[in-house]
Amino acid sequence: MIIIDGSEGEGGGQVVRNACALSLVTGTPVRIENVRAKRSKPGLMRQHVTAIEAACVIGNASCEGLLVGSSALSFRPGKVVPGDYSFAVGTAGSTGLVLQTVLMPLLLADKPSRLVLEGGTHNMQAPPFDFIAKSFLPVINRMGPTVSARLVRHGFYPRGGGRIEVDITPAPLRPIHCVGRGAAISVGAAALVAGLPFAIAEREIGKVRKELNWSEREAYVRELPADQGPGNVLLLEAAFEHVTEIVSGFGQLGVTAEQVAKRAIGRMRGYLESDAFAGPYLADQLLLPFALAGGGSFTTVKPSQHSLTAADVIARFLDQRPAFEQQPGGTHLMTLR
Ligand code: ATP
Repeated sequence: MIIIDGSEGEGGGQVVRNACALSLVTGTPVRIENVRAKRSKPGLMRQHVTAIEAACVIGNASCEGLLVGSSALSFRPGKVVPGDYSFAVGTAGSTGLVLQTVLMPLLLADKPSRLVLEGGTHNMQAPPFDFIAKSFLPVINRMGPTVSARLVRHGFYPRGGGRIEVDITPAPLRPIHCVGRGAAISVGAAALVAGLPFAIAEREIGKVRKELNWSEREAYVRELPADQGPGNVLLLEAAFEHVTEIVSGFGQLGVTAEQVAKRAIGRMRGYLESDAFAGPYLADQLLLPFALAGGGSFTTVKPSQHSLTAADVIARFLDQRPAFEQQPGGTHLMTLR
């Protein structure tokens, strides 16, 4: 059994999700101690419990310590069984993070699967649906499997109630090299509001148009049905020939619309000024599929603590260690060692 100290590195929930996914794929049991020790409320939260429960269901795994607040977890994988599954994350936990936990085992299975995930679709500190559909999955699809995701209904914290559906046609993951972005195709910004004043989204988009010089056609406001809210998210998109970056900003009590927009704009500028393939979030999420493919490479901006921690967890399970090397232009090249 592999023992992981969850307080090392980033010390958050990603360690648990990656460890359980790797455990299912490799058939190796794992124990994680000091779960989320670096967070202000350590231990498993509801959304981590749902993600691991989902891993137990698809992988016939047994798990000790799977309770909200638990700081140690022992996960014993069984056989991954593809099929139709439905998981609901109470408390508007992120559907994207549940997907993160079960996707790799299911896309390496021997038959297709269909997932219905209910909960939050646009949560802070988690991949929003648009990021999954436009940034992450296109890279996975280039590696061999076919995964498509549909957003049926938006769900925001704290109310949740969102729904996404994901179809997974497995195939072996093959190594790919993602060094350049290719030619720029388009940019776009959407400010979504549900059950909140329209003016919030208008102010966010106003700031985007002014600061990034994006046109009215490129940057627009979208009002969702009020019963999908309350919620607000600003999504900035830059599409290139080989990759699309999605940066998100979330409306929060006590943070002005302009501040939400300013942070997202700053992050998009950072990406546009570099010529790296992957932004920081895409990079940490690609490490697992690339390591499972046993090769390939991508360039990214400076690797985040999340990425470095994910690399450590991967190296515990596989004969592969993702390594980052700074390139002359300032980007970092991820290769497997
Ligand atoms: P905690 O940090 O409280 O433990 P957590 O379970 O959400 O909670 P993290 O370890 O922070 O765990 O992992 C968050 C995951 O969500 C990472 O994979 C990160 O790449 C992804 N993520 C966070 N924000 C975004 C975003 N804006 N766009 C895309 N992905 C995101």
